[in-house]
Amino acid sequence: AKAQGKGRFCYFTKTMQENANYRASILNDLRTALPSNQLELYYQPIISLRTNTVIKAEALLRWNHPQRDIISPLQFIPIAEESGLIIDIGDWVFQQALAQLKHWRQHFQADFQVSINKSPVQFKSLSQHADWMDTLSRESNYPEPGLVVEITESLLLQEDPNIMLQFKQMQHNGVKLSLDDFGTGYSSLSYLNKFGFDFLKIDKSFTQEIVENSDKRELCNAIIVMAHALGIEVVAEGIETLAQQDLLSEMGCDYGQGYLYSKPVPVKKFEQILKNGL
Ligand code: C2E
Ligand code: CA
Ligand code: CA
Ligand code: CA
Repeated sequence: AKAQGKGRFCYFTKTMQENANYRASILNDLRTALPSNQLELYYQPIISLRTNTVIKAEALLRWNHPQRDIISPLQFIPIAEESGLIIDIGDWVFQQALAQLKHWRQHFQADFQVSINKSPVQFKSLSQHADWMDTLSRESNYPEPGLVVEITESLLLQEDPNIMLQFKQMQHNGVKLSLDDFGTGYSSLSYLNKFGFDFLKIDKSFTQEIVENSDKRELCNAIIVMAHALGIEVVAEGIETLAQQDLLSEMGCDYGQGYLYSKPVPVKKFEQILKNGL
């Protein structure tokens, strides 16, 4: 048993070492990813469940690494957050998405919306917040830029009064706020009210169980009813089947996003969707 324990210990330290090496190498490469144009925004359509048309998109980061295969944002975003690189990357995402949004509003749909993901780490950068507000207030389409900012609930648990102020200023500049991954953590609907969210996104782990699991279905229904009572619209993410779509639509869910409609795609491909529909 002793030998086994020792062996197991070695095994763990080896994987931990490998893991640390991997992270260090990713971090090293990530530092040059932005200046060498390896990052790209893909866009995933969000449809109105009433009209079945594409009316928004979520911008999602992709890293075209010169040597490695695709590295998921689930892997590199946490490394970007820990190292602080997320500030510059997040800035680039904001500028790119805003320019894209402006273009799409001019050439395709005047009321189109694009959402970006903002990491809790970015809320600590008051200068980034100030820069963004500056940019938005200079936009000609002010006060309705069509930008949506998606935030995860871990941010709200920090109970930082400055976050509330940033939310207010974003909304003053026409930004809509969306609570991401609802149903995975601790947040209650009272948060939504307190922070003035415009949208909530039901997490895909939820969406994907509503057909088989009646408890999840009931809970999902209750979330939609209560959100609507608070004046908040609901986006269901991770819709993969017609059965899921139809249930959500019957429950009065406002918007849908998922592989049933489209995976996240590059700009050119997204414009084909805007032109020709799904
Ligand atoms: P998220 O914000 O929850 O984004 C939704 C994720 O679900 C995306 O994964 C999307 O591709 C995936 N997805 C959409 N529809 C379906 C579906 O029907 N089935 C399944 N299985 N998955 C679906 P992705 O693009 O790999 O991004 C993962 C996470 O990385 C995002 O989760 C977000 O937390 C983070 N991320 C991506 N881009 C950014 C960014 O620009 N900034 C920050 N801070 N985080 C980002
Ligand atoms: Ca999101
Ligand atoms: Ca999400
Ligand atoms: Ca997520």
